Amino acid sequence: MKAVYIEAHGGPEVLVYGERPEPSCQPHQVKIRVRAAALNRLDLYTRAGGRGLRRTFPPPHILGGDCAGDVVEAGAQVRGLKPGDRVVVNPRQSCGQCPDCLAGRDDLCPRSQFMGSAIDGSYAEYVSVPAVNAHVISAQVTYEEAAALPTTFLPVWNMLQRKTQLKPWETILVLSASAGVGTAAIQVAKRVIGARVIATTSTPEKAAKAAELGADEVINYTSEDITERAKALTGGQGVDVVVDHVGGEFFPKAFSALRSGGRYGICGATTGLRVELQLGLLFTRQNQVFGVFMGSKGDMGEIVAMLNRGTIRPVVDRVFPLSQAAAAHQAMEEHNFFGKLVLRV
Ligand SMILES: [Zn+2]
Repeated sequence: MKAVYIEAHGGPEVLVYGERPEPSCQPHQVKIRVRAAALNRLDLYTRAGGRGLRRTFPPPHILGGDCAGDVVEAGAQVRGLKPGDRVVVNPRQSCGQCPDCLAGRDDLCPRSQFMGSAIDGSYAEYVSVPAVNAHVISAQVTYEEAAALPTTFLPVWNMLQRKTQLKPWETILVLSASAGVGTAAIQVAKRVIGARVIATTSTPEKAAKAAELGADEVINYTSEDITERAKALTGGQGVDVVVDHVGGEFFPKAFSALRSGGRYGICGATTGLRVELQLGLLFTRQNQVFGVFMGSKGDMGEIVAMLNRGTIRPVVDRVFPLSQAAAAHQAMEEHNFFGKLVLRV
């Protein structure tokens, strides 16, 4: 089968478009003809070999997590899925046997593996995944939209529905509206929960798109102070919840924008891993700071239901053919996009 893989770590030039053996289909798995695979930052980190992601080659390693496609084969133990079903794949595979998995908290599974990082991924014509990781999508959802769903909406769902339990009367600050997680957070906060949404971004064009998605207010962080604007927009109180997926560069301003009792969720740190925490503010305002990484299988089922109803709609900026994966990685490094970059397979 055609696939995009690496045989060494490095820049986008190490991506090879070539032939790899098709995966077999185990009894608990479905084999999927991949139609679309969405890019994630993790793909770039895995390619570069940073952050504990260094691999030993050979064998070559196929990149990519999020994907959608058609079931072509179902293992003997599989129930509820059959060849021809259109599905989206949850790229995090958990063991299904540990106490966390059995308690429905498989997002905490110590033996979980991320497709494209720990194991071969979705930049390929075929993947085989546990049937519990494949979810049927409805006819009006495109493969590209579905592929853009899991890694953006899972952490957001985990953070807003489960951890913070954001309420309709509350105000949320979403950092960097143009990234996949930003576009997901605006939609879940607005269209599912009905909260007031303040988003940040860097250009008037991106601000207009954020407003279209549901942001009530947009702060341009290149010309406005995030703390001051967020306070001004909330009558001096500050926001109830912050969704942070960018970390370092924005944390001090966003943390200062929290009100008393506010909750600060982190699901990424693309601008830096280290921050200084003002402990005086933390305890006098009784704030919570917490992290999430993806979500549970239960979360995934709920998100796919919202997708299939049309309540949420992943934002796809651009689609590249699989053979142009290197150009797609280059585009992601240039930061000039709104939503997700997707490979058509
Ligand atoms: Zn487990």
